[in-house]
Amino acid sequence: MLIAGNWKMNKTTSETAEFCSSLKRRVDGLAGSVDISVFPPFTSLPAAVTGLADSEIAVGAQNVHWANEGPFTGEVSPPMLRELGVYAAIVGHSERRHHFGETDDMVALRAAGALEAGLFVIACVGETEIERETGEMQNVLRRQVGALSHDDRLVIAYEPVWAIGTGKTATPDQVREAHEFIKSLLDVPVLYGGSVTPGNCQDLLILDGVDGALVGGASLDLDTFGSICELAASRS
Ligand code: PEP
Repeated sequence: MLIAGNWKMNKTTSETAEFCSSLKRRVDGLAGSVDISVFPPFTSLPAAVTGLADSEIAVGAQNVHWANEGPFTGEVSPPMLRELGVYAAIVGHSERRHHFGETDDMVALRAAGALEAGLFVIACVGETEIERETGEMQNVLRRQVGALSHDDRLVIAYEPVWAIGTGKTATPDQVREAHEFIKSLLDVPVLYGGSVTPGNCQDLLILDGVDGALVGGASLDLDTFGSICELAASRS
């Protein structure tokens, strides 16, 4: 069971150092029952890696380019992340797809480049509200998952776009159905993401086919994230 905290564009270097030192103490003793990782912004990665070096909590990046180097202004490459001690990268988050025009092809390239360099990858997929209402959910998931290839270090996060940062959570039946469908397309671990809180994670983490959670807003608060990790550990 993996609990991954996506911090989005939050926490400066000093805030990261302080949070990581408290997080280590907050989740002390859970190692072995749950895998915990945090995904700070690029600028805070060194502080997180240093701050968590003597813990079981891993550090990942929120995005990664596919090339090792070159004329790609504003991008960060897999070897740059590896050298920092970063173990994984998120690719295809819906905020990247919708605000920055990332396509399935770009997401596939990012995933392949990161895997090739030895990083673990969390690839995000999920339908919008309109796509769900018009019966397009399976087609969207088929297209997004179909762009990816199986790898032992690949994890998919099912994040229905209508549930991200909205406070709306998918029901257990909706999550079960989507995870089953994704696993029928690609046999990899699948996390659920979308307004996960300590209040709703218990009902979701017990479902067959749910291998953990990608937690956004709730990962920014020490006690809230710590509680989610504890609840996940108790379900493992
Ligand atoms: C996310 O950013 O991946 C996410 C699921 O956000 P939230 O938990 O805030 O909905």
